This record gives sequence, structure tokens and C-alpha cells, in this order.
Amino acid sequence: MTIKAIRGTRDILMPEVRYHQKVETMAGTVFERYGYSEIKLPVFEQTELFTRGIGEDTDIVHKEMYTFADRKGRSLTLRPEGTASVVRAVIEHGLARQGQITRLYYSGPMFRYERPQKGRYRQFYQVGVEAFGTSSPALDVEVIQLTINFLSSLGLKGLKVMMNSLGDREDQQVFAGKLRDYVSGKIDGYCADCKRRYETNPLRVLDCKVSGCVALNKDAPGIAEALSDGSRGHFEKVQEYLEILGIEYEINPHLVRGLDYYTQTIFEVVHDCLGSQNSICGGGRYDNLVSDFGGSPTAAAGMAVGVDRLVMVIQETEAAEEKNNAPSVYVIPMTEAELGEGLKLTSRLREMSLKVLMNYDGGSFKSQMKKAGKSGAEYAVILGPDELAKNEMTIKNFSTGEQRTCPLNSTRAELRI
Ligand code: ATP
Ligand code: MG
Repeated sequence: MTIKAIRGTRDILMPEVRYHQKVETMAGTVFERYGYSEIKLPVFEQTELFTRGIGEDTDIVHKEMYTFADRKGRSLTLRPEGTASVVRAVIEHGLARQGQITRLYYSGPMFRYERPQKGRYRQFYQVGVEAFGTSSPALDVEVIQLTINFLSSLGLKGLKVMMNSLGDREDQQVFAGKLRDYVSGKIDGYCADCKRRYETNPLRVLDCKVSGCVALNKDAPGIAEALSDGSRGHFEKVQEYLEILGIEYEINPHLVRGLDYYTQTIFEVVHDCLGSQNSICGGGRYDNLVSDFGGSPTAAAGMAVGVDRLVMVIQETEAAEEKNNAPSVYVIPMTEAELGEGLKLTSRLREMSLKVLMNYDGGSFKSQMKKAGKSGAEYAVILGPDELAKNEMTIKNFSTGEQRTCPLNSTRAELRI
């Protein structure tokens, strides 16, 4: 009998392994730019760390953990996620100090007993960040911005941030009550798991993937109705700062996420090309987890990106780009006077991993726009005397016709291309 890799695990060979290396290197580069330092964590922990941290009645704890007894009969579990371990390490080594923010990142394999399919494995890889020590909504935004920055540095486009607020523990109690009222009228139509969740942890009902339950949940109340003034204020600040940074987001009032430790802001980053396994990243705030584990109360936020799915998206994006050798951006200096600035901008855009061409040969605005259109570029960037006087550029999106101005020194996330 030949021995094969266990179902849901796989060897990652060339050329795919190159992409994993690239993702990990880029993660380190971008996360360190935001002040995060690496922590290497054990792959297994005491089972209780996850049952208490993630929540007894989550899918992960209920049916996805690889739990085993070691030779001395202790119950150990292969980590299904990284946050609980980071929190344990922070408490164990006293890493969080009053009045300062502790920023950590990790990468490595995670283990969940799930049904293997495209983008879903039993051993998969994550890179993630966790930050401890402030309840400022600016930290929520830092984590979201860092995520977008990291994903766009890898050339990803078409990303969407889905966001919701879960409020604090009291808000969640209020919401659980409202949700129970809603579900109770239709309880017969829900799956057996949801019937149990309805009793033990009604928020989890909103996370059910069974199509009958998804349909029944359509008109469920959103948590916004249950938020206290403080929680609502926090969420509004998060939105305000995201808007200042030009980061687009969508609020999904039914987003709950699969782990119980979250409070306040939660988010996912989704990408169209992944089908039903469309979530690349999940994260949010977890202000009670450190104190739940016996540490002194420490507000915190974090996120984890699924590397396997990210690599799939990068490979598909590259394959699509190879087929179509068009640039993403075509730079148009209106006259010779803007050519120098055009060269500078073009190289900045290329440093952001964008594929960029520029017209060197002048011509009327109309003929230059025609060239841009012919190149197949998605965007034209126009530099004229008016723009340069204000240190700006005009960006035209060829597919939507939308035109807007951006500062010349915008970051890739702010450019939204
Ligand atoms: P999903 O809803 O797809 O099950 P999740 O909410 O369980 O995702 P998280 O626990 O938030 O996922 O983990 C963060 C990221 O890790 C996900 O967005 C996804 O990219 C990746 N991920 C989670 N489970 C798996 C898996 N079994 N195989 C591959 N990647 C995974
Ligand atoms: Mg899951």
C-alpha cells in the first residue's frame, strides 16, 4: 500500500511555493512598516485555550478542531487560528504595557477539520497581525488599512471590505434577544445546528451557510438596532477615518464572523474570483479576550489572511493579465512641460507594482486619450498644468467613465486602482 498525504493536506510544490514565499516576504515588509514585529508560536496548545477563546458553540470548536491526548493524557489541539495563542503569549510574557501599543504578527499553518474543496483545506496557512493596548477606532482602521495595503502590494484588485459592528458584550446580549425573537417564529425551518445555536448562541445563526437558513436570515434584524451610544460612536469614527483614507467599504448588518471573541468592529476582505470561498481575510476588535484569559483588561484588534486563497487570487490575476498584456495605467502629460513630472509619477506607480505606460510624444488631449484607450489600460492618469499647480493628478476609469482627482503622493490604497 502506498502512503499518501492526508485528505485536506497537500504538498506545496513549485511554482506555487514561490507565491507562498512572496506573500510571506511581503507580509513581513508591510507589517513591519506599520510597527509590527514577528512572533513565532507553537503549532499546538492546551485545548482549553481554544475552547475558551474561540467559544464552545462555534463551528471551529464544535466540529473542526484536531484534538488529541498526548502520552501523558493531556488534551492538546492543533491550532485552528492564531489570535488565542498570541493573547496567551502576550499575557505569559507580559508583552502589553500600560499606555503603549504592542504590535505583533505571525505566519504559519492552521488546522481545521472541514470538508476539503477549492480554497478550503484541513491544513492551511495564515499570516496575521494582533495589536494590544488601545480602544481608539484609529487602531481598527490601522488594521484594515494595513490589510488593504498588504493585499494591493501583491497586485490584488477588486477587493471589497465588508464591515459590521458587534458592539460590546451588553449590546450583544440585547441583540441576541432580538435575534431569538426573530428566529423563534421560524424555528422549524432552520437546520439542526441552528436550532441548537438558537438556544446557546443565537448570533451564530447568522453565520450559518445552509441555504435554507441563509434565506430565513434575510430579514433578520441587524445589530445596529442594538448598539449603545458608545459603540455606535466608535463605529462612526471607524467609518469617518476610512473615508479620510479613501478606503472603500460596505456595511453588512448581518456579518458576525465565526469566532466568539469579537467586539465592536469586525471585517472581512472578499474577492470575486474565489466563488463561495470568497473571504481572503477576517478580523476585528476583541477587547475582552485578554481579560477573559486572566490578563489585565487590554483592548485589542487584529486580522488574519488566508495565504492559500490569496495565492489562488494572485495566480488567477496574473493568468488574466498574461492573456491581456495591457497596462493598468496610461499616463498622459498634457504638454511637454508635464513630461518630467509624468516620468516621476510613472516610476512611483511602477514601484506600487502597477503596470504603467506613458505617452512621450505629445499631441492633442483627444489624440492622447485615444492612445490610452487603444493601449487597453483600465485607467488614464492625466497631468496638466492645473493638476500640477495643485500637486494633483486626474484619474479616469475607462470602464465606469468616472473621473476624480488625487494628490500626486497618494498611496496605492488611496489611488483605488
Ligand atoms: P470561511 O467563512 O471561508 O470559513 P472563516 O471565517 O472560517 O472563513 P477565519 O477564521 O476568519 O475564516 O480565517 C481567516 C482566513 O483564513 C479566511 O478568510 C480564509 O482566507 C482562511 N481560511 C479559513 N479557513 C480555511 C480553510 N479551511 N482553508 C483555507 N483557508 C482558510
Ligand atoms: Mg470557516
